[in-house]
Amino acid sequence: MSKFWSPIVASLHPYVAGEQPAIANLVKLNTNENPWGPSLRVVEAIKDAATDDLRLYPDPSAKKLRETIAAYHGVSPDEVFVGNGSDEVLAFIFAGLLKHEKPLLYPDITYSFYPTYSRFFDVKTTTVPLDDNFQIRLEDYEGECGAIILPNPNAPTGIGLPLADIKKLVSSHADQVVAIDEAYIDFGGETAVPLVRDHDNLIVIRTFSKSRSLAGMRVGYAIAQRPLIDALERLKDSFNSYPLDRLAQVAAVASIEDVVWFMDHRQKLIDNRQRLEQALRERGFDILPSQANFIFARKSGWTGKDLSLALRERAILVRHFDKPRISDFLRISIGTEEQCQALITALDQVFASA
Ligand code: PMP
Repeated sequence: MSKFWSPIVASLHPYVAGEQPAIANLVKLNTNENPWGPSLRVVEAIKDAATDDLRLYPDPSAKKLRETIAAYHGVSPDEVFVGNGSDEVLAFIFAGLLKHEKPLLYPDITYSFYPTYSRFFDVKTTTVPLDDNFQIRLEDYEGECGAIILPNPNAPTGIGLPLADIKKLVSSHADQVVAIDEAYIDFGGETAVPLVRDHDNLIVIRTFSKSRSLAGMRVGYAIAQRPLIDALERLKDSFNSYPLDRLAQVAAVASIEDVVWFMDHRQKLIDNRQRLEQALRERGFDILPSQANFIFARKSGWTGKDLSLALRERAILVRHFDKPRISDFLRISIGTEEQCQALITALDQVFASA
């Protein structure tokens, strides 16, 4: 607190990101990053763009990138909005599309940036409890509301909703914006992008941070019909004309162009997830069904906090949340085979000495 602060500063609840410690040899399974580096074509594109041209501002409309994303999804470039990570895209969506007189609905257990943005932009909200199996129940979203936002699959549970359910939700709320945050959709879910054509209230948010291994470049986007995208462009051009730098724009284009890298690495991750789930089940873990690049798992007799501390002592980082209903769970990002094996070895040591 300082007398120099504007009043809003003290009222904020800043998001707490997963740890990024600078310790060598850590097995980092705590921030849902991709365990493999990005496509070599991405690295080459960044090197090629690292020239004297960096003295020039980037294309403020990221035209080439929007065209590439549009072609990938079969939509028009006008229906694509890009931003500095999907977090920034989400911020504009909270400010410009989700703030209404009636409350915004989102699950009680979900991406913890939603309450942070709601507070920042003073959005009235009502949280909707997940059911006893940690599932989103569509009937619970049928009450009066100003808008809805859901991650699909949800985080940190990893549980996805089928496309038919998203379609039902979007159809039954034709007068409200429904925002579907597909940060983890490529690991087993079904995208709602094809619904955009027939639903002017739907906006789908995606990121290059997870399935494209570009968390460090900060590229995210949203797809919706023109009136919703227009709102985001008006906000962006009132805030920062150049959210994506030159390197991020070429990196993202090259990433979409390398289809083989994308398909291979997505499959490798899904395979590792299945193997890790099996190994954890053999060790008595209860695991929620995941369609993401992480799993949410608990072991009876252990709190998430104690188990994550025991793993930390063995140089393995996982995430736990000291929140009602989920404090016994660990959120474990899927790693390489070696990282998953290191986790299992460490768990066996922890349980042997407990
Ligand atoms: N949505 C969800 C559900 C996430 O878990 C994350 C990652 N923390 C994001 C959006 C933001 O990702 P990024 O800003 O890296 O695109």
